[in-house]
Amino acid sequence: MSNRRGLLIILSSPSGAGKSTLSRRLRDWDPTIAFSVSATTRAPRPGEVDGQDYHFMAQPRFKQDVAAGEMLEHAHVFGNFYGSPRGPVQAAIDGGRDVLFDIDWQGAQQIRNSALGAHTLSIFLLPPSIRELHRRLETRGQDTPEVIAKRMEKSWDEISHWDGYDFVLVNDDLDTTEARLKTIIEATRLRRSQQPGLTAHVRALQTEFEEMQ
Ligand code: ADP
Ligand code: 5GP
Repeated sequence: MSNRRGLLIILSSPSGAGKSTLSRRLRDWDPTIAFSVSATTRAPRPGEVDGQDYHFMAQPRFKQDVAAGEMLEHAHVFGNFYGSPRGPVQAAIDGGRDVLFDIDWQGAQQIRNSALGAHTLSIFLLPPSIRELHRRLETRGQDTPEVIAKRMEKSWDEISHWDGYDFVLVNDDLDTTEARLKTIIEATRLRRSQQPGLTAHVRALQTEFEEMQ
């Protein structure tokens, strides 16, 4: 077994608060962090790559995968289905790698309540203001005004679940938020439950201690 157990790192926020930007930065910082590529029934946006940003699939296939127990969690968001495929997550954490999830509060809740809940670190990002959230969605330039309006309308529903998370960060200055995320991850990796090798180490210390008596 690896000396370290993989962490399931969940990032949630209302759309536009900075999840994708920060998850990109975290993966550049530590390329051993695996990204959980979600399955979705929504259409790809320009520039999105199948298998990299999402596994794009039709609804019947998505429902089949859910019925077969192949999704660690799944939810209906903005009129589409989204889910986290279980296989790659299990393989990564068994190998001692952390997995990063960009998922909504429903998915976060399901993972927290699953058998992997003890190995979960959940972080919620709040925007500095609603006005700034709107500005970020507009400057991202990916969505039509109608889609932006829909995302803004849903943002309060997502924000209202902020208190179910282990950590909450106001993503004002991007570099500051990035540094705080790294601190949180590094500290959580040292949680007793994340270090399966500790028991053997303490046993070895005990043997050494007794031999010296
Ligand atoms: P999400 O993945 O949560 O929908 P994004 O990461 O796509 O959000 O961020 C939305 C937009 O806001 C992007 O254009 C991104 O560059 C910008 N952004 C993210 N964080 C900040 C920040 N702290 N300050 C200013 N702009 C930011
Ligand atoms: P988008 O369509 O902008 O990529 O994502 C819309 C919302 O769906 C975001 O809040 C994102 O976090 C959430 N989401 C993406 N993938 C998943 C997933 O696998 N499970 C859940 N529960 N939510 C997801």
